[in-house]
Amino acid sequence: MSISENINRLQKLMPKNVTLVAVSKKQSISSIHEAYSSGQKIFGENNAIELAKKAETMPDDIKWHMIGHLQRNKVKYIIKYVDLIHSIDSIKLLEEINKRAFKINKVIKCLVQVKIAKESNKFGVDKNEINEFVADSKKFTNIKIIGLMGMATNTDDITIINSEFSFLSNIFETIKNNDIKILSMGMSNDFIHAIKNNANMVRIGSSIFN
Ligand SMILES: *Cc1c(COP(=O)(O)O)cnc(C)c1O
Repeated sequence: MSISENINRLQKLMPKNVTLVAVSKKQSISSIHEAYSSGQKIFGENNAIELAKKAETMPDDIKWHMIGHLQRNKVKYIIKYVDLIHSIDSIKLLEEINKRAFKINKVIKCLVQVKIAKESNKFGVDKNEINEFVADSKKFTNIKIIGLMGMATNTDDITIINSEFSFLSNIFETIKNNDIKILSMGMSNDFIHAIKNNANMVRIGSSIFN
């Protein structure tokens, strides 16, 4: 199936309250253009320099999301372009984003990445530290925390996936409010389970571009 067929199929499949982020990492400008032409306006990248390069050449009405691990020394590349950062995992990272955002008079929307998978290589804030983390982040004038993000273990075992998503969904229920509204979880292989567990933002790459 073509990129536009995939976009149309996924858009139809999504419940109305679920936002589709098309993960365009490693994809060419022409592939992204094809998705854009079929109405997709939100794209996710996991590399700061790639995000900046693509944002410079692509139409201005695209919303660019940073979904991958972000190093502090790369913040400067994306600050102008980024609409939402999904991968906040330290106060030091927030400090740097806040500093750069202040300089250009922008407020950056962010999600706190929560560690829900057992895999030790996954980034994120520990579940016991979420409340304190969100409270601490209030001191940053140019940051707005609007939700949580999580990645399930990379496995075919639906029981594990569901328990990790439901775990994050429960945390989200306890902290959601007028500002904290987004629950970003689910990728190509597990987004159905994520939506069943109340995700309202999914990040899908290979089901669109492959
Ligand atoms: C690559 C990536 C995705 C998309 O994964 P697919 O399996 O290609 O849908 C989602 N979230 C993050 C953080 C990613 O790095």
